[in-house]
Amino acid sequence: MPEKLWDNKIESMPLSKLKDLQLKRLKELVHRVYEKNKYYKNKLSDAKIKPSDIKTLKDIEKIPFLTKQDLREYYPFGLVCTALDEIVEVHASSGTTGKPVVGPYTKNDVELWAEVMARSLWANGLRKKDIMQNSYGYGLFTGAHGFEKGAQKIGAMVITISSGNTERQIDVLRDFGTTALACTPSYSLHIAEIAEENGLNPSKDFKLRLGLFGAEAWSEEMRRNIEKRWGIVAHEHYGLTELIGPGVVSECEYKKLHVNADHFLPEVIDPISGETLESDKEGELVFTTLTKEAFPAIRFRTRDLASINEEKCKCGRTLPIQSRIKGRSDDMMKVKGVIVFPSQIEAALMQVTGVSDNYQIVKTKQGDITSLSVEVEPSEERYKEGHLDDFEKQAEAAIYRILNLNVPVKALQPKAIPRSTGKAKRVIER
Ligand code: ZN
Repeated sequence: MPEKLWDNKIESMPLSKLKDLQLKRLKELVHRVYEKNKYYKNKLSDAKIKPSDIKTLKDIEKIPFLTKQDLREYYPFGLVCTALDEIVEVHASSGTTGKPVVGPYTKNDVELWAEVMARSLWANGLRKKDIMQNSYGYGLFTGAHGFEKGAQKIGAMVITISSGNTERQIDVLRDFGTTALACTPSYSLHIAEIAEENGLNPSKDFKLRLGLFGAEAWSEEMRRNIEKRWGIVAHEHYGLTELIGPGVVSECEYKKLHVNADHFLPEVIDPISGETLESDKEGELVFTTLTKEAFPAIRFRTRDLASINEEKCKCGRTLPIQSRIKGRSDDMMKVKGVIVFPSQIEAALMQVTGVSDNYQIVKTKQGDITSLSVEVEPSEERYKEGHLDDFEKQAEAAIYRILNLNVPVKALQPKAIPRSTGKAKRVIER
């Protein structure tokens, strides 16, 4: 018998009722942005759409997409749909490729964020008795703040340690009796590695039972490795600064990602033609924030590739299910005519005996031609065994089985690849 849901009424609502609610909220949203924001008004007028033209959910397809480029153009507050003094909190993405994307929140937006994060963490099994070590980086980035708000709403204890200072993370994990660790999946592996160097056994010497991981694309194979190494259940989180931060989905006990679709209306489109795809077809995720006040996004193109279906889940939730993110369309590489995602190479490597969790994909560009190679660290034991050419051949064969592509693999010394306390850099260009 599944445990009670955080918000039983919404999370197990019949799909037809959910769609009625989405349509009601979508109509209100389009009216609101049309009245309150010049950019949105012009955009809708240019597309010859009046708010009253939105009569069904499908009518959303008439509205043009919102892109990251639009957000940069209206930096920092050009897309705000409330008075500026209604804003009580601001976050921003790192902005590594240009101006950062700014996420402003009203009081109600902050409350909404806490609510969807509580729903998400509750679905992962976080409860009042838990002690959550929040090892996402505090600062402008949304990650740490979203986890803190949700966990406190549940009533759990939050350790606001932020990322970095790994030795201290380990002391706190042990001394405070941390039961849930929130950080990027790659940082959890780095913490485990340092703990092992200090003679500790991650799966035995801590009280940890839950991993709350996000902000990075990671494969199911990597999830199994992390779960084994720490002796925990590891859950995926997904979100974007443009939408709210983390809290867009709730991963249930069956590891299905339920979209919190009463607040975030999902679509999947063909990334080239922009056409809406049917259920279960893989494409680019597009989201509309149905209830956000300060900065509502209508049809925001995430550049993340996944599919959505409306199958019934054993957990009792009726909210639509999003597949794991295959990658960002920006990360897609075309090598000798073959489409390659970093996550596919990760999945292949993790099948090789003696491989560690540390690898790097090296992209080399000569003119228009991209070639790939992989550098991977064997585990300490495998490294000591020698015959690393066998190890390399096994890894190459595993990649070939998945991609049908010859990608040379080089075994490095253990600890040769730089570790990260935040998002790991899996693809480098030389
Ligand atoms: Zn479920």
